[in-house]
This record gives sequence, C-alpha cells and structure tokens, in this order.
Amino acid sequence: MIFKPLKYEKYADKICRKLTEFQDGFKKEYDIDNYANWFYNQSSETLRLYSDDKEVYFKYIPVGTFSQKTNTWMWAWANKDSVEPRKFRTLKVKEFGEKKKYDNLTNAHFDGDKYTGWELTSIAFDIIGGIGTYRVISEHLEKYFLLTEQITKEEAEKIESELIECSIHGKIRKAFICQHLNTESKTGFEEAFETYRGMELDEDDDFQAWCSECEKERLKTDGWNDYSMEFAQIKLVCERCYFGIKELNSK
Ligand SMILES: [Zn+2]
Ligand SMILES: [Zn+2]
Repeated sequence: MIFKPLKYEKYADKICRKLTEFQDGFKKEYDIDNYANWFYNQSSETLRLYSDDKEVYFKYIPVGTFSQKTNTWMWAWANKDSVEPRKFRTLKVKEFGEKKKYDNLTNAHFDGDKYTGWELTSIAFDIIGGIGTYRVISEHLEKYFLLTEQITKEEAEKIESELIECSIHGKIRKAFICQHLNTESKTGFEEAFETYRGMELDEDDDFQAWCSECEKERLKTDGWNDYSMEFAQIKLVCERCYFGIKELNSK
C-alpha cells in the first residue's frame, strides 16, 4: 500500500512552501529580521518594528494566536478579547474550510504544535492576501499577522490620534453614548445602525447609542434636534465599554 497523506495535509504543505518562498522576498525587501523591537496596537491594527536607528510601520490583519502553554490555536474571528476591526476577514478562511471540509480552518480552537501557527497563517495569507506575514511572541502567546501594507509614521500617528484613552481598556477606538447609558443598569440601547464587536466602520461612521428615554425624545421631533441633544448629553466612551453596555442591555 502506498502511503497517502490526508487531503488537508497535502494542501497545507503546498501552501506553506508557497509562503516560505514569498516570505523570503518580503524579508529581504523590508529587512524584516533586522529590527530589535516590535509594538502593535489592536485598535489601529498597526505594527511597528524598530531599532535605535530605524523603524517601519505596517497595517495588519490578525490571523490568530497559539498558546505555548496549552498548545492550542485560536482563530482571530473567535477571539472575544481582541478588538481588531479586521479580525473578521479571517472568516473567509473559515468559509473556504467549510467548502473543503478542513476542520482546522473551521473550528474556533484546537490542539496543535509548533508548526500550527505558521501553517494556518500561510493558508490565511493565500486566501486573504497581503504583502507578508509576521509573528510576535509574548508571555508564551504567539500572535500571527498578515501585513497588508506599509504605512508611514504620519499615517500610523493619524490612526492613533483618532483613538481615545480609556482608563479601563487602554488606547482604543471611540464610541458615543447618551448620558443615561451606564455599566450598572439597563436603560434600553438604541443604535444609529446595527453593530457588533470589532466591526469595521466607514470613515464617516461612529458607534453611537442612546437609551429608551432619549429615543422617546428623539422620536417626538422625528430625529435629533437641539432639545433632544440637550436631553441626551452625548459623551465619549471606548469601544469596549460601549459593547459592555450593549451586552448588559441585551441580557
Ligand atoms: Zn439617554
Ligand atoms: Zn473602556
């Protein structure tokens, strides 16, 4: 009998080779291995690589994480702690996996080994695309990125300047709520449009929500006016606080 690798293994092997080849060129072009430090920001999805004398910035899509402690992989789309807006792009990999019946591409998390992270990142890169890939390790957690484009320091700073500093959640995207919404009691939760955690927003859109009482005022005048705005006293919160309040109200 001839040994035949499983269909998935064969596929994964081919894709890994393809990425390795591609990645060699990418590393050379950006001198990727010669930066001493890294820093990434989930909300702006920017990765900065830097040394004393040089730095480079990229926009990224998170692929997933591999825990060296539990030896398990988790896809970015399944990671409730991550606030990266583009993490749901990895659902494209899941869709592909559903068609092909590849469990590793459809299960949220599963056991793996030291090759798992790169294998799945190669597949994500093949399906979603990008200019290269990168991995960082901190506290036994490997985090994998698809780098989609290089950006300038000014562009990275502009993205960051649009974030707010939440005392609980750190530097993160902003959201707007009426003065009555809070983390302790249910007040009703009306939104400008349907939202979900980590969703991508168009440039002109913001997360905006208000309570049932504000909605009553708003409907009286068929939309926001000076009076209902005065009643609402819209204030700024962070994205995670916003979704915390939304969840509280949907319980
Ligand atoms: Zn209100
Ligand atoms: Zn917050």
